[in-house]
Amino acid sequence: MRTNEFRIIEEMYLSLHVILVIILLNEAFPLYASAGSTFVKVFAILFAIYVAFKVIYHFMNNTYDGDLDNRSNNTLMTIIDGLFFLMFIVINIRGSYYFIHFYFLFQVLQSIRFATGGSLFFTIYTTLLYLSTEIFYDINNINYGNVFSTIVILFVTNYIIKFSLGDIKNLGLERHELYNELKDKNEELSRLANTDYLTSLANHQSFYSLYEGMKNAKPMSLALFDIDNFKNINDTYGHLVGDVILKELSSILKRHVRSSDFPARYGGEEFAVIFPNTNLKDAIKVCERIRESVENHVFDSGENKIKITISVGVDSMETLDCREENDLEFINDVDSLLYRAKKEGKNKVVSPCI
Ligand code: GH3
Ligand code: MG
Ligand code: MG
Repeated sequence: MRTNEFRIIEEMYLSLHVILVIILLNEAFPLYASAGSTFVKVFAILFAIYVAFKVIYHFMNNTYDGDLDNRSNNTLMTIIDGLFFLMFIVINIRGSYYFIHFYFLFQVLQSIRFATGGSLFFTIYTTLLYLSTEIFYDINNINYGNVFSTIVILFVTNYIIKFSLGDIKNLGLERHELYNELKDKNEELSRLANTDYLTSLANHQSFYSLYEGMKNAKPMSLALFDIDNFKNINDTYGHLVGDVILKELSSILKRHVRSSDFPARYGGEEFAVIFPNTNLKDAIKVCERIRESVENHVFDSGENKIKITISVGVDSMETLDCREENDLEFINDVDSLLYRAKKEGKNKVVSPCI
């Protein structure tokens, strides 16, 4: 059941109170007949005040989160409700025995309201209220067949409602679990779709969305890294060794950048780092440190100790940079700087001011 349905049940329950109060007030203070006894008047006023408070309380604390277990139905208040019902029916039953039917309504509503606990208690409670009414009505002429079937109906009703609501609750829980499972799987899928399988860095595709998202974090610097003569490494030591080097290089990158920077595998043996809120001077410093540590690092493939170098192009987008109008323009500029680094002898960081 959804949140709204709980509210409807609660309001139906309150409406029942209101109907009883109206019947009672009409009896205590009728417009065209003589007024009821003092007892009925006092009881009608008391009941009316009680119900008015209940209605106000309901509309001020109208929170149903849809979970059967989390509804804080007040047991004590429901017991008091039952006593008011009893009094009401006792007052009216001599006028019409059919008022006894309100017990069925009371019972059905409690079975729903307390479906996951306490509904049996209220079935027994309703049975006791009903029995006291029968005793009051005519203790000498109790129809045991009627009494028995009424009690059976009260208990069977509770059983049916309690178990069907239990099933609904289990379905709800199952749905919740399935939903969470699906959500986890989707998250995992999107993580896999955005991650490079070899280096676990962001892949080419997610590099662009990160870049899109970072454009406002100006000054923003971007560096492109390319391994020098990597084809030779592959040719000499094999593709698998090449892969090991790519992995290790990505660890070096990760070690040197801050957690707010975004390293990515831009292409085969090309990497990119986005430095949000970083000016060119600071970005150059980091790139230079990375270049140096790659140059000094010994890549260990088990059989061979391999040394490599990298070339780097780095540029920065400042606050009033019109290159952001065209996404690719800035990236192309950085790419040209990388190309210059290659042309000027490799193993160097090239930026616009050098
Ligand atoms: P340059 O200094 O001009 O960059 O020379 P280079 O040899 O590095 O450049 P080139 O573009 O000629 O070659 C890049 C090589 O990178 C070719 C390709 O086999 C290799 N490569 C690209 N992706 C991978 C990969 O995932 N694993 C391995 N092992 N090698 C890769
Ligand atoms: Mg390349
Ligand atoms: Mg290369």
